[in-house]
Amino acid sequence: MVADPECVFCKIVAGQIPSFKLYEDDETLAFLDINSVHDGHSLVISKSHYPNVFAIEPEAFAAVARSTVKVARAVNSAIAPHGLNLVQANGPGAAQSVPHFPRSTVAQAKAAAQRHASKQSACLALLERSEGATIRELQQLTNWQEHSVRAFLAGTVKTKLGLDIVSAKEGRGRVYRIASRQRGR
Ligand SMILES: [Zn+2]
Repeated sequence: MVADPECVFCKIVAGQIPSFKLYEDDETLAFLDINSVHDGHSLVISKSHYPNVFAIEPEAFAAVARSTVKVARAVNSAIAPHGLNLVQANGPGAAQSVPHFPRSTVAQAKAAAQRHASKQSACLALLERSEGATIRELQQLTNWQEHSVRAFLAGTVKTKLGLDIVSAKEGRGRVYRIASRQRGR
């Protein structure tokens, strides 16, 4: 079993960081994501450390897929979400927050998705101000963990909405703002 001493998920596998386990077998572990912004967001990971899909052994991927089916069915019957996404991100450009190959099972109840959308618009409003916002301020607004805020900035804002984020070091820390748009003023 390959482990990276710096990796958060490897620490969870080793029991050095507590987690709420949903399912476990010899090759995989499924647990609730305590940083989740969605209800019922769970992660299924290979116990061996592979940074991404480019490095994982196909057999280890297959083991993760088998566990993912079990967890998805359990989540589906437990909370009957409006819909359920399976997400697997590779690399920071795809908003991969931890470099340990995960398969995420994302259950989005409708209400949770709406709460999430309103937090996102609140963040955008802060980022559009001329004074911008720090990661800390965005965290206070949303209750998201830092990596979720960073994933929002790099993934949703930049990739999905196509807005440019600029950042600068100021008295209250690194401040992020949306670069003035092409159109309009
Ligand atoms: Zn790892």
